Amino acid sequence: MMAPQQKAASPWRGQAAYNSTIKSNHSPIDALLSRLEGVKRTGSGTWRARCPAHGSKSLSLAIREADTGATLLHCFAGCTAHEVVGAVGLEITDLFPPRPDDPAYVGKAERRPFPAADILRAIGFEATIVALAGAAIIAGEPFSQFDKDRLLVAVGRINAALDAGGLNHG
Ligand SMILES: [Zn+2]
Repeated sequence: MMAPQQKAASPWRGQAAYNSTIKSNHSPIDALLSRLEGVKRTGSGTWRARCPAHGSKSLSLAIREADTGATLLHCFAGCTAHEVVGAVGLEITDLFPPRPDDPAYVGKAERRPFPAADILRAIGFEATIVALAGAAIIAGEPFSQFDKDRLLVAVGRINAALDAGGLNHG
């Protein structure tokens, strides 16, 4: 049977007070990396480290910070994410950023679910569809069921894009 607490005791002892500070004030990636040994940055938002769950000296743990702020990890020796975080005194939920309604979130950067440029691109494309449909109507061209359906899709997507941008629409 696995005994994460026992395993965690020797290599990570003496860090408890330091770690509890990090756990409450830092991002999930910082909380995890600060508890690992042999951490080596391998790219933008990616690291390798010794896996605390199976005790090998090789850097068999791959870590990645997702765009959402969540921390993804994979042990090439086969340890589960649960075993890895358990071995350093964390829980799976510690790999994810606080929810927006979490008090810890207050005062952090303004929430922007989607980059404005993406929203503008989406609206711009759909606006072109609407403009073409409008031009066809003004010119008295026949308007097929397909055209009507596509126009409805465009209207829906524009509204969805406005929602994503946090804008109200009537
Ligand atoms: Zn492992």
